[in-house]
Amino acid sequence: MPTRSFSTVPGFQTTSFTPQQLEQLLIVLKAYDVEEMKFTSTGRLSVLGLSKETCTQLAAELIPLFPKKKTHKEWFTYIQACPGMDSCKFGVRDGEALAAQIEKIELSGPLRAKMKIGIAGCQMCCTEPYVRDLGILAERKGWKLIFGGNAGGRARIGDVIAEGLTDDQVVELIHRCLIVYQDNAGAKVRSARFLESFGVDRFKKAVLSEPFQKK
Ligand code: SF4
Repeated sequence: MPTRSFSTVPGFQTTSFTPQQLEQLLIVLKAYDVEEMKFTSTGRLSVLGLSKETCTQLAAELIPLFPKKKTHKEWFTYIQACPGMDSCKFGVRDGEALAAQIEKIELSGPLRAKMKIGIAGCQMCCTEPYVRDLGILAERKGWKLIFGGNAGGRARIGDVIAEGLTDDQVVELIHRCLIVYQDNAGAKVRSARFLESFGVDRFKKAVLSEPFQKK
């Protein structure tokens, strides 16, 4: 058994920051005597040797230092978006702008289980959308939406639900996917297991039966 383990700072996530923010981050971490830290692949911060309670106090100090990156609705575990066309030469669409739109989706309550979202600005798939609960991938003809992926012990490649979507259409379709999932999945059942039992064709029929409201 390890005598000390890493704990994730709750609610803190950032994929980019300024030198000034990094300096402030270091000041806070030193004040808490953090021995070692690491950023996860999704931009979350893990620190070594702090209790859960202390991590919560740490979060309260760190989150205000990164105001633009802290806003995720409580029902998404995280939304990981690559820089996309704004700052990557391969990007064909703006993933961070889409992430901001997805955060505005309103649901009736927390989802059944973790909902991890990966948005990639091109087919290089740096944010691994095929193994996320919801994966969104930019192509020249529009967004491709993938549902039911998982990168865990029972890994699953998600299924393509639709492609060639506009920003509005992909947000609307994500909303529909979440509603069908929420209405039909059991407690704590992740999207991958849900899709296997519900059936991919049935799921597609449920979410694609109505025309999109916006083009
Ligand atoms: S997925 Fe494409 S656009 Fe996004 S960071 Fe990777 S290479 Fe760049």
